[in-house]
Amino acid sequence: MDKKHRQLRFSLAYFFVALVGMWLFQVLIFQPLLIQAQEVPYSQFRQDVAKGYVKEVTLGEERIFFTLYDVGEPNAPEDLPADRAGYTFNTVTVPEDKTLVQDLLDAGVQFRAEPPGNGLLVTLLGWIIPVLPFALIWYFLYKRMGGGQHIMSFAKSRARELTGELTGVTFKDIGGLEEVEYELKEIIEFLKNPEHFTKLGAKLPKGVLLVGPPGTGKTLLAKATAGEAGVPFFSISGSDFVEMFVGVGAARVRDLFEQAKKKAPCIVFIDEIDTIGQARASAGALRVNDEREQTLNQLLTEMDGFEPNQGVVIMAATNRPDILDPALLRPGRFDRQIQVSLPTEAGRLQILHIHTREMPLAPDVDLERLARITPGFSGADLANLANEAALLATRRNADQVTMADFERALERIVAGLQRNVPLRDEVRRRVAYHEGGHALVAALQPDTPPVHKVSIIPTAKGALGFTLQMPEEDQYLISENELRQRIAVLLGGRAAELLIFSEPSTGAADDLQKATQIARRMVTEFGMAEALGPVRYVADAGANYLGEQLMLRPEISPQTQAQIDEAVRRLVEEAQETALGLLREHMEALHEVAETLQQNEVIHGEEIQHILEKYTHD
Ligand code: ADP
Ligand code: MG
Ligand code: ZN
Repeated sequence: MDKKHRQLRFSLAYFFVALVGMWLFQVLIFQPLLIQAQEVPYSQFRQDVAKGYVKEVTLGEERIFFTLYDVGEPNAPEDLPADRAGYTFNTVTVPEDKTLVQDLLDAGVQFRAEPPGNGLLVTLLGWIIPVLPFALIWYFLYKRMGGGQHIMSFAKSRARELTGELTGVTFKDIGGLEEVEYELKEIIEFLKNPEHFTKLGAKLPKGVLLVGPPGTGKTLLAKATAGEAGVPFFSISGSDFVEMFVGVGAARVRDLFEQAKKKAPCIVFIDEIDTIGQARASAGALRVNDEREQTLNQLLTEMDGFEPNQGVVIMAATNRPDILDPALLRPGRFDRQIQVSLPTEAGRLQILHIHTREMPLAPDVDLERLARITPGFSGADLANLANEAALLATRRNADQVTMADFERALERIVAGLQRNVPLRDEVRRRVAYHEGGHALVAALQPDTPPVHKVSIIPTAKGALGFTLQMPEEDQYLISENELRQRIAVLLGGRAAELLIFSEPSTGAADDLQKATQIARRMVTEFGMAEALGPVRYVADAGANYLGEQLMLRPEISPQTQAQIDEAVRRLVEEAQETALGLLREHMEALHEVAETLQQNEVIHGEEIQHILEKYTHD
């Protein structure tokens, strides 16, 4: 209401200013411009005619314009007043003067009349020209005030976010998710033409849940679905709600759906739905999550509150489907789940192509190779890789992005940013043997991925060095033997330290953690320990999704637990023996790799292969 008032007051004030402005324009600029002549009394005009000073006359309905002879012109009288000679003057017409025409004829003055009506047109023009700019300014000001409430008031600011967005993203911007795109085709068809679906009585799922690890393109997919269908995209993120004051979350959900229904067909996208949709029971005793619960309830109410064919499709994304409240997954809510997984090699290549579309690539850039050596990378990681490479090239002031840029970018992403903390010589020596140990154990076993690069440059994440292994293909299945070899590689660092320095160091803690985790999964999930048999010992709910802590089933006896611990220990110990054995056999190679590392800080896979070949020939 207040806003209306202010707008009205603004309009009135503006109108007044504009009126005064137009009047000033008329009086000061337009009229004088039009007349361009000094006004004199009618009597003066008559005298000038009588004295024969006047050369030309234009008789208008309102005004008479007359020009005097200039000095020296033919027929100019002798007594021409010098200060007025040659000038044009005007005077107001006196209609009562019936003898004017006769007098002009008698005096031999050239004269003509102005066509009638012209004066009105000119006057009109004189008003329209100045009004136009004022009107335009007024229009734009008014529009800004009326349309953009966010300028005027805070309270309504969320309205801006609630106007659906036309994303402009399409499936062309997504790589490696053809199957998912195919599943979404039907929804796109529906959004494009809801009436058609309604006519045939088809029912579409109200809610589609996109499930997958972070960075795999779930948000992108939702936007592209809207983009492909050409419908507005309303989005909110679950994490937005977390920051909100009590009661706002639920109100916001209500607003969102209200807006969306008005704009149907459209897509409502709820990102990170797990933050509001966590199972209510697991929220804990203290009911601190009242707000979240209200929001969730509102969401459920809204979802139940409209017909499936109303043209609103709700999409949501999560990487934690296991913790979602089961109420969300009931029929009529998010009853369709679509799995979005990490890209395969072909997918990675497509994604790299998409994200290097606008980059000037040097001819040596081999995207196929990059796709091959980046298993486990998500779409976001690959986008990041391309961007880092471009940044590195920019920093070099180069005009093309080269393969070297991509390789450095890759190292950065894998190992964190390189930092130059000089290590004491003993520490460097130990790190060199440790990393050399990993590298050789990896290179000496048949089923481990080849070593790409070993470095003893400390990383930002606190590691003193790293060994980079690049699998040559994506692995969907891993055999027991391969897992054992992986554990051996992880223990290669510690084994080398034991052989050279006769004691372990803290440097292997991370390796041991990873090795133990693999061994534990082998025993409890994959049935790979003889003593325990092909039985799953891990609790089902929520376990191991995205590398979470493994929980054993509660009913497992203490004896079995002890057996599990024993089996895990045996696996890791056996792996350590394997590593020790391999390194003992290739001591010279280990020394040389460690030497090279201390000198150059880095050693590549081919060099290690070279060193190994050198000593096996003897
Ligand atoms: P999620 O929502 O699954 O966490 P996003 O959709 O937010 O992932 O992805 C983040 C960014 O990573 C995207 O904006 C895009 O640049 C890139 N990206 C992720 N997946 C893909 C893909 N399949 N194709 C192309 N780019 C992708
Ligand atoms: Mg996302
Ligand atoms: Zn290590």
